[in-house]
Amino acid sequence: MAVLVQKYGGTSVGDAEKIRHVAERIAAARRAGNSIAVVVSAMGDTTDRLIELAESISAAPDPRELDVLLSTGELVSCTLVTMALREIGEEAVSMSGAQAGIRTDTAHGSASIVEFDAERVQQALDAGRIVIVAGFQGVTHEMDVTTLGRGGSDTTAVALAAALGAERCEVYTDVDGIYTADPRIVPDARKLSEIGYEEMLELASYGAKMHPRSIELAAWYNTPVLVASSARDVPGTLIHDVASAGADGPEGEGMEVANKVRGVTYERGVARITLRAVPDRPGIAAAVFEPLAESNISVDTIVQNASAERLTDLSFTVDRSDLRAALEVTQGVAGTIGAGECVSHDNLGQVSIVGTGMQNAPGVAAVMFSALAEAGVNIEMITTSQIRITCVVDEAQVNDAVRTLHSAFELGEG
Ligand code: ASP
Ligand code: MG
Repeated sequence: MAVLVQKYGGTSVGDAEKIRHVAERIAAARRAGNSIAVVVSAMGDTTDRLIELAESISAAPDPRELDVLLSTGELVSCTLVTMALREIGEEAVSMSGAQAGIRTDTAHGSASIVEFDAERVQQALDAGRIVIVAGFQGVTHEMDVTTLGRGGSDTTAVALAAALGAERCEVYTDVDGIYTADPRIVPDARKLSEIGYEEMLELASYGAKMHPRSIELAAWYNTPVLVASSARDVPGTLIHDVASAGADGPEGEGMEVANKVRGVTYERGVARITLRAVPDRPGIAAAVFEPLAESNISVDTIVQNASAERLTDLSFTVDRSDLRAALEVTQGVAGTIGAGECVSHDNLGQVSIVGTGMQNAPGVAAVMFSALAEAGVNIEMITTSQIRITCVVDEAQVNDAVRTLHSAFELGEG
């Protein structure tokens, strides 16, 4: 029997009625002759509320205790879905992350799965049961509960699909697929019928709603992921190993137009720190970024200017919520390496264009920069990967920038 893994997001299991609806969907897939394992997120905004609760008790909640608390959100939804299935006559059983065999490292709040022994899930499936696994959580070798980072249920689902050798992982959510841009900002954004793993990873890492680690896993194990709506029966987006040429280009247009740019994505809440007059000698970058890494602050865009008198300016971006901690670390380092002042700017955002077709298309960057210039958007920093160009811009201009780029690359319904 084919094994299918389905994942339902928090909105899809937001109340009792939605939970019953989800149970009906799962039962239908089961009756269609599949062996089914399901991963669920916590109901609605449960995780946010649990975080608020913890912070009302402690300004800096203990990471181990916080993880146990947060893991309860998914336990609630997975047991309720299981009960709903049993109500309609299906044999179903719930499992926590630990019971399902998910081992993680010890990084509380953003743990990585290090081992997935799906034996127990497999046995339950073999016995004809539907298994409902609590997303977003695992357990360390010392049996401490961990969580995988916000949005981490996606990763639980893909990891489970890979561990079971499932044909594919279906992710049901409140959007009905992956769009060329956020439809709330760009009304004529187009739903993609398919997208490659690498492109999706860039989109997810730079704003799209899936947990980036889930896409890394999907690519690594070559597990196709379908993103679709749990409420409406419309085709979703298949994330899979798609050859870049010709994939999902605008209908009727030939390979040569097969979109070089696949989508536009954005992020708000970006902050930048600039360290001035940094001595230009080996070891300096390490001296700055090692202590940041040790403090668990992830640094995104880094720009270092060429120096005139063996002094350079070093700028980098961090998440706005990390700014204060990052400044403290950087100011400390500035003293020890004999650099100048440390300045910061906290109202930034970033826009990115993504597409595997960009690799051999030198004109793409120029189109991006001149479109932004025409729209009066100043570019603060630029970074690129093989298949992405990202511009850091003023946060207030993010929406304009996204709309401008979406039309400059003719990504709309047309
Ligand atoms: N409930 C967790 C969160 O809100 C995990 C998830 O939804 O995937 O981030
Ligand atoms: Mg999510």
